[in-house]
Amino acid sequence: MSAIRIGIIGGGYAGLTAAYELQKRGYAVTVFEKYGTWGGQAATLPLLGTRIEFFYHHLFGSDAHILGLMDELGIGDQLRWIESKVGFFYDGQIYDFVTPLDLLRFKPLNLVNRIKLGFMYLYLQRVNDWQRLERVTARDWILRYMGQEIYDKVWGPLLRGKFGDWADQVSMTWLWGKIKVRGTSRRGAVAKETLAYPQGSFEIITQALVDRLRLGGADLRLNQGAIGLTTDPADPCRVTGVVTRRETIPFDVVIATVPGDAFLEIAPPSLDDSYAALLRTVRYQAAVVLLLVSQRSLSRIYWMNIADRTMPFVGVIEHTNYVPPSEYQGRHLIYVSNYLERDDPRFHMTADRLFDLYAPHLKRINPAFEPGWIEKKIVLRAEAGQPVITCNYSQRIPDHRTPLKGLYLANTLQIYPEDRGTNYSVRLGQTISRIVAQDLTREA
Ligand SMILES: Cc1cc2nc3c(=O)[nH]c(=O)nc-3n(C[C@H](O)[C@H](O)[C@H](O)COP(=O)(O)OP(=O)(O)OC[C@H]3O[C@@H](n4cnc5c(N)ncnc54)[C@H](O)[C@@H]3O)c2cc1C
Repeated sequence: MSAIRIGIIGGGYAGLTAAYELQKRGYAVTVFEKYGTWGGQAATLPLLGTRIEFFYHHLFGSDAHILGLMDELGIGDQLRWIESKVGFFYDGQIYDFVTPLDLLRFKPLNLVNRIKLGFMYLYLQRVNDWQRLERVTARDWILRYMGQEIYDKVWGPLLRGKFGDWADQVSMTWLWGKIKVRGTSRRGAVAKETLAYPQGSFEIITQALVDRLRLGGADLRLNQGAIGLTTDPADPCRVTGVVTRRETIPFDVVIATVPGDAFLEIAPPSLDDSYAALLRTVRYQAAVVLLLVSQRSLSRIYWMNIADRTMPFVGVIEHTNYVPPSEYQGRHLIYVSNYLERDDPRFHMTADRLFDLYAPHLKRINPAFEPGWIEKKIVLRAEAGQPVITCNYSQRIPDHRTPLKGLYLANTLQIYPEDRGTNYSVRLGQTISRIVAQDLTREA
């Protein structure tokens, strides 16, 4: 093993993959994770004799990086491809929203607009030149090419649900990324969509990475957040170590895989102002998810987009309409999802308060719904749930090499033009490890 020590801040998929790749190259790695579980936003919790993600998760057919990693870790055969059931809740009704045929049956739109919406999907799935799309907001593109009705009844409510006050600024490239990826999950334009789920939850991927790291001698530290970085007294622009509440540990290289604002909290004052300013320009929407363990199913849909802005949530993801309830002791697992600003009161509510707020609206989805069905409620929060990607973002992506020597950044702000996801965090981990290894070889 090389004498070079690399400290990695953040034990999500970017951090664990970077550690795994660098360990393979012979470097000594230490991973610091501030919470008590590995996996970051893809972490899981024990429930009903198995494990389940804090936040609903699945993989797409185009997720080549994470699928490749699973093969390499020897768990590629532990994926199940399952037909997804996507729905759209509008004006008190659930509409299927998977195939072009479903779109043709989407009555809230007039027939011409249903056809137009279908073409929008087919067209965007074939577009590769996203650069053209990043100059325009999703709102302007939809209004120009699809018209007011499609914006008002479909995309407007969805964009507002996900991005709140920032919805009108979201770039068309972001929406393209979402639609493009879905096209890869079906075999042919009219086919159903299949999504992948690891047998035993995403924990099997996280655990396989952690096991490999342990086997290679990695120093893995849970519940040890970085609270600062040290610099060389003779050269304040060289990072020399990581500070935790317990100790200061010297490193030759430090890689931060934490969100932009968390990075700025630990960065030394010598960090260049323009780099810091770049990180401050990108906002995140927070995510708050209420996980319900229910005796009965709420609907027949796996992924239900809520296009009704009088409802206090944006999505209902009934995991057990994807993976059967028999795998969860017969219980139904329902995530009620929201993206919002961190200062939104819902982000801070207890599970009981959120449930009281949501329950009357769950009844609008299924009039038979009764609060008595719910055996357990768990609230889960992510401060940096979704970066808000605005126009011409390609020109504002922070560099992986920070202006400080020995300090690198690999986080979801650097995923583009695709939307963030575990696949792209694996790619980030692979990319950053290549960059660091190149720099170390050059310096040697
Ligand atoms: C509601 C929701 C649903 C999602 N659904 C899907 C899906 O279906 N499929 C999919 O592929 N992706 C999904 N994602 C996205 C995916 O989970 C993330 O993009 C990915 O896991 C991010 O990985 P990461 O390592 O880049 O960042 P993170 O997972 O955010 O990891 C960063 C880690 O750094 C830690 N940290 C922060 N500050 C410090 C510090 N000072 N010191 C030490 N550690 C620190 C954090 O605790 C965290 O563990 C979803 C995300 C959300 C919020």
